[in-house]
Amino acid sequence: MPFSNLGLSAPILRAIDALGYSTPTPIQNQAIPVILSGKDLIATAQTGTGKTAAFVLPILELFNKERTLRGKRIRALILTPTRELAVQVTNNVAQYSQHLNLSSMAVYGGVDTDAQKQRLIAGVDILVATPGRLLDLAHQRALHFDELEILVLDEADRMVDMGFLGDINKIIERLPPTRQNLLFSATVTDDVLAISDSFANSKMGELAEEITISPHSTAAPSIKQWLITVDKDTKSALLSHLIKEQEWDQALIFIEKKHAAAKLVDQLAKRDIKADAIHGDKSQAMREQILADFKSGKLKYLVATGVAARGIDIGSLSRVVNYDLPFKPEEYIHRIGRTGRAGATGEAISFVAMGDFKNLCAIESRLDHIIDRKEIEGFPVRKVVPVSILNYVRKSKPPVPKSAASKSSAHKSNTPKSTSSKISGSKPNNKTTRQKPNDKTGKKPENNSGERSEDRVNKNIWGR
Ligand code: AMP
Repeated sequence: MPFSNLGLSAPILRAIDALGYSTPTPIQNQAIPVILSGKDLIATAQTGTGKTAAFVLPILELFNKERTLRGKRIRALILTPTRELAVQVTNNVAQYSQHLNLSSMAVYGGVDTDAQKQRLIAGVDILVATPGRLLDLAHQRALHFDELEILVLDEADRMVDMGFLGDINKIIERLPPTRQNLLFSATVTDDVLAISDSFANSKMGELAEEITISPHSTAAPSIKQWLITVDKDTKSALLSHLIKEQEWDQALIFIEKKHAAAKLVDQLAKRDIKADAIHGDKSQAMREQILADFKSGKLKYLVATGVAARGIDIGSLSRVVNYDLPFKPEEYIHRIGRTGRAGATGEAISFVAMGDFKNLCAIESRLDHIIDRKEIEGFPVRKVVPVSILNYVRKSKPPVPKSAASKSSAHKSNTPKSTSSKISGSKPNNKTTRQKPNDKTGKKPENNSGERSEDRVNKNIWGR
């Protein structure tokens, strides 16, 4: 369906046309009509799927009517886990609303509140905020929520992971109950479901619609994934080697710890590779400058901790490196989603050391395929990470008995039979309903596996 059939007005269509968006992405196709109808929405979609436009465009459409804004009032609140994502979303709002008479701004921590308070005095149509700073400003009575129409929780699972659940609940308590709620999350966990429990009194008095965009059918196919088994102490030499040998034009390099990020930048510098790092210890101004340099191509190699890298949106990013393998499969999928966006091809390379075996198994199991392995000449490994047994068994046809599989994979560990980097289709799944969490803790009823049907809208499924 073209954008013109989605019920968006000419000024919005002009703005997205100017950005080169010719056709809506799956999440946009599905979410825009639901949001325009005024219903609540729970959308499972990760970054890179076009989810920001999926909620911003219909909000602009709904707000594109004459309305006087009262002082310190906001009409839509978009909560994001990080400042970077808040800035990114605000930039998108500004781009999409360039031909409309709507105001927007971001509020986030790490910068002085005075300027933010000043701008809030006149009221703002669309406010993008991180939870902590928003609560600060609300406590200071710098803004009021009594005219709020729409709440968006962007990357809800990240907000939960980052410990914002308490703040989110406090914010929700302050909002008018008759509002429209839109929740976007890469994964819908029990905690995320518990947040959406507060949607019960929402605007339409109806149940939230649910959309799931499978990661398998969106960002992933355009991403060539491979891994290199490494010994921890050779990682920086290996990275330098790859950057030089393969003449990498650009790379976003994920690392676990702040101090390790700084150390890696130094190690690269010693090998004449200029890199920079963003992490929580850098000032907001520095982070923004580094990000701007990376986006413009002035900085070619950016080392980032997972949290600091949230919200980084670089249209043409060709390469992501998991210098450290993330602990959660969701994080892996989220990271590699930084490349191969909106149809472009990208490459995701993971360094996997012996200690990462468990995480690798979880990731491969979630992807439902074994990640292609490469050996790099000159970098022999002392401790080779075995191939995930679970996946080995799954890919073997006919199925290998468990004991045999363990034996065979134990000694064949380095030579996976299936090394295709292509992501297989979605897991078989016939469930069309999900049970409502049964209490405020968000715990699901016993027999609920939490499995989901993919790529479709499930209507009125929470049995409220
Ligand atoms: P997001 O998932 O919101 O982070 O968006 C990922 C990237 O896709 C951003 O760079 C958007 O500008 C871009 N994008 C969003 N929607 C479209 C579309 N319909 N066509 C092309 N690019 C898009």
